[in-house]
Amino acid sequence: TAEGSEDVKGRARDSRIDPHQLYKKERGEGKEHLYMVVIGHVDAGKSTLMGHLLYDIGQVSQRIMHKYEQESRKLGKQSFIYAWVLDETGEERNRGITMDVGRFQFDTKTKSVTLLDAPGHKDFIPNMISGTGQADVALLVVDATRGEFETGFDYGGQTREHALLARSLGVTQLAVAINKLDTVNWSKERFDEIVKKLKAFLKQAGFKESDVTFVPCSGLTGQNLTSKPTENSLAAWYTGPCLLDVIDNFRSPERPISKPFRLSINDIFKGTGAAFCVSGRIETGTLSIGDKVLVCPNRESAVVKSLAIEEVPKTIVFAGDQATVTLSGIEMQNVSVGNILCDPQNPVPVAMRFQARIVVFNVTVPITKGFSVVLHHQSLGEPVIVSKLISQLNKSTGEVLKKHPRFLGNNTSAIVEIQASRPLALELYSECKELGRVMLRVGGVTIAAGLITKIIL
Ligand code: GDP
Repeated sequence: TAEGSEDVKGRARDSRIDPHQLYKKERGEGKEHLYMVVIGHVDAGKSTLMGHLLYDIGQVSQRIMHKYEQESRKLGKQSFIYAWVLDETGEERNRGITMDVGRFQFDTKTKSVTLLDAPGHKDFIPNMISGTGQADVALLVVDATRGEFETGFDYGGQTREHALLARSLGVTQLAVAINKLDTVNWSKERFDEIVKKLKAFLKQAGFKESDVTFVPCSGLTGQNLTSKPTENSLAAWYTGPCLLDVIDNFRSPERPISKPFRLSINDIFKGTGAAFCVSGRIETGTLSIGDKVLVCPNRESAVVKSLAIEEVPKTIVFAGDQATVTLSGIEMQNVSVGNILCDPQNPVPVAMRFQARIVVFNVTVPITKGFSVVLHHQSLGEPVIVSKLISQLNKSTGEVLKKHPRFLGNNTSAIVEIQASRPLALELYSECKELGRVMLRVGGVTIAAGLITKIIL
């Protein structure tokens, strides 16, 4: 056929070439990328801990640290200096200096780690699940202070909520920082007591015991963050890795480069001449110059004229890359933000109805059948209705508690059916984590997050 004679499938999809080999050839043996989210009860010390860690590994200049020191002394809040490190980067982000919105980057021995969301956000849960941000791993911070751990864990605290949410959003590996151990004289008994309680809970929440690591530390004094403890009372009983090494020991996620190509468009802009560009993250697969692509849900064809990452021209881009793609053979007005570029040989499913397993956490009125919400899927915001409440689930085990519940209130987990009024390009969570994740919002407030479990074609 004409298609076969042209080199339209691109080098990467030529069956003789292994895309993983190509990736190695193009990118070398660089550090593996890891996305990490920091979770835990408010005041557990998340900002202080991350700020101190970033300072210790030289991510924060002396000049900036000195400025914080002076400012915090003026306010009589010296302990806040490390937390401010993260606030400053927050400001920088708002001014658009850092390229990646809502992120912070640091390196361990073998990994390049991107922090998702500045920890310490008040309105944390929506942030945790919003945007393109998707965590591979989580750092759970708990306050070891007597009474405080219990507040965060037992009485409607966020410790459980965040851990459950992380797990239901697909995070399987967890580091737990048992923080502020300075307040309990580095007590091993207190550490063991907290570990015991958390272990039982995390197991029930669906984390494998071997995928959870507990680290005693103090974000304020800096003990056991980036090097072995120097505090005798801690060094006397703890011989394990410091927090930075625990992060380094996380398994890296696979770059799904052998899966069919998908890019979710988050920006569209004019290029030179008649051409125009789209940009977004390559979720799966690879894309080469000359490839034919399909723009979904409209199923319009286009051809890749050129490729770039941060304005550096490329001939091929891979899953995990944030890329700019110049398209030809298609009108700019036929492409929208939220559309998905995909492999025409293996396109994304397009449907108006699907099922999702959701967690509800922020509703003022319970969700009932026919409830109107805005579906957020990647960069798309689309009005839809919750057309069926199929079953209510046990949040930890996923077991069905009730079939056809009448309503879903806060802190419930359920399978629901969503009905849109026009076709959407979707993907099962089991096929593609990123494109299989959805959020439901009402009036700008995120009320539920979920995973696509069934697409009804
Ligand atoms: P976040 O809300 O989890 O980000 O918590 P912050 O980092 O803002 O810290 C909350 C409070 O706990 C602040 O007053 C910190 O100074 C204090 N704090 C944080 N880490 C430690 C620690 O390791 N030891 C002690 N004693 N206090 C800490």
